[in-house]
Amino acid sequence: MPTNTLSPDEDPCGPGMKVSHSSRWNYGLCSRSWFYEKEYGWRGLALPLLVFGHAVEETVCRVLRESPELISANAASHVLDSPTHQKTVVWGRRDRQETHIDQRPESEEKWLGPKLMLFGDAPSDIEEIRKWAHARVDVHWPRAIEGARIAWENDANRSGNWNEFMQARGNLGPNHAKNALDMHIEEVLACLEANGGPTLESWRKGIRPIISAPDGRPNYHTIPHPFANSEGSATLAECWEIARPWFVDPEAGSFTQQAMLPEGWFQGEYDLVYRWEGTPRIVDLKASNGTSEWAAAYPVQMKTYAWLWWASHDHEMVSGLETWYMGAASRKKYNLPSQTDLQKMQQELNQFWHDHMATRGSRDITNYPPNPAPVPSHSPGGGDVIEVKDPSERCKVCLWANICEGSGEMMEISSTEWEDVNGTSHQFNDLSQVNSRVNVFGTISTWKGGEWRHGGIAPALGIWGGGTSTWVSSYKGGPKEIPEGLHVGSKVRVIDTYFAKTRKGGLQLKLDDLSRIEIAEEAKEGDIVPSSLPRINIRGRVMSLAKGQGEHNFGTWKRWGASIATENGNIDLSAMNEDIPFISAEINRGDEIVILNAIATAFGAKLQGALDQLSQIAIIK
Ligand code: SF4
Repeated sequence: MPTNTLSPDEDPCGPGMKVSHSSRWNYGLCSRSWFYEKEYGWRGLALPLLVFGHAVEETVCRVLRESPELISANAASHVLDSPTHQKTVVWGRRDRQETHIDQRPESEEKWLGPKLMLFGDAPSDIEEIRKWAHARVDVHWPRAIEGARIAWENDANRSGNWNEFMQARGNLGPNHAKNALDMHIEEVLACLEANGGPTLESWRKGIRPIISAPDGRPNYHTIPHPFANSEGSATLAECWEIARPWFVDPEAGSFTQQAMLPEGWFQGEYDLVYRWEGTPRIVDLKASNGTSEWAAAYPVQMKTYAWLWWASHDHEMVSGLETWYMGAASRKKYNLPSQTDLQKMQQELNQFWHDHMATRGSRDITNYPPNPAPVPSHSPGGGDVIEVKDPSERCKVCLWANICEGSGEMMEISSTEWEDVNGTSHQFNDLSQVNSRVNVFGTISTWKGGEWRHGGIAPALGIWGGGTSTWVSSYKGGPKEIPEGLHVGSKVRVIDTYFAKTRKGGLQLKLDDLSRIEIAEEAKEGDIVPSSLPRINIRGRVMSLAKGQGEHNFGTWKRWGASIATENGNIDLSAMNEDIPFISAEINRGDEIVILNAIATAFGAKLQGALDQLSQIAIIK
């Protein structure tokens, strides 16, 4: 539920620096594993199971959006799709276009819900509604699972066999979704029994919650529903509408429906929020039977959601917390926390943010020792713990076991020199000694003073030297201070700046709060001119991969990346567009590779290696 949305420019924490339930829980499973993923950015395997869960939830939400009296059982899946559309395109940074998607256009014209007409042979009792809901699952499922397969196919860290997964488990998807809808139908019946509940009268007048369910109508739609009676007992058709929970709009962009604290340091995404009883009840959908160790995480997850609602709704308490295990067709209800519990939770979560999230980029690995937790399993439906395995079992399936000293299976990473096919020997850099910060001497060729809206000076300038000009721009607020009177023609030293890749694939220098600009008549020892790029050779093991594509103001962009662990440090490789080497298609997680002539760049405080046409990669094994 998108409470307190913050645009990227206004977000004081930014992506990767917010606490979420999963980040906090995973820290407790092993702090070292957490460190690898949060600090080094190593990504887990993209298994079919992960996207399968999304497909089941998407299917459930597509049916929840519809009405048995408006959508026939065999209507096409897209008939009530939300008209999310591109609203504005802004220049988030000088080199990047940011598209703002309007997730909930206000114009009635764009929405199909108000245009639908009642049809004659609509389901008239709850059994017919159940049959209708199950038939709608069969219509929506192929679309949802195909979208999931495409997302899995395109993931750089894809693992597993899709067809085998679908035969073994994926084919249960429609059953899972039908189980969830049966539980929703229990809600509709309860609402009918309560004569529509306390919101019946306001609903009949067309009054909707501030953030209404994405039911094919705009958020601020005030026209009473076509099924709304002016008086009398609530009907089944009315209760289907009134009981509809808020859910994640399948057409909304990823991560746009997250609830966020106004201060920005926590975010989480509810699956369903039921409000027909007049108070909020939060439900989380699980595409499983609740026997895995994750069942232990769910009570904490739900308590965290109770806190998030409380903290972002003027201390309003939720009236229910439930996990719906779609694989076991069962709902698990949790005891509600007290105000005191929630206050304590807020302190703990905020402390976690201070200790572990706000320190992103400067976390010390020695504070994150290998400390795997035992591995429990549960009876179906998130029931009692039936077995607890030794912590070493966690290491046996850990993706980082070959790099972690706690696993007992750590592999050596060689940094010895390497001979290429021409017999040329190459030495490798010690990454612990590579400083991505450089001091650059040159003449200002373009000058744009600026101001970042959240404070800072944020200058941007062209700097000329060595026969070339390089653009220098600010990261967030840029340097804390700059000399007065800078102008085109000023000779300057730009101190502790770093090279960074643009989306276009070019290189520019970045200024952050550690950088300075100094007026200087001549260069000092160690200064470089803008044209001299710091190049490094790397030998290491591929820990995870990344790829992406999109559009910017110059057209489309493509990116390939790899996180590399070396004997003496870690680095993220990144290549854009035509600089992406052909061999990237052959590189897999776990491969030992060498990279020659990468450019030492940075993203914030993190060392990166950018590839260009002079860089080379070879797979050793
Ligand atoms: S191998 Fe074991 S100790 Fe090391 S990160 Fe993985 S779970 Fe933690």
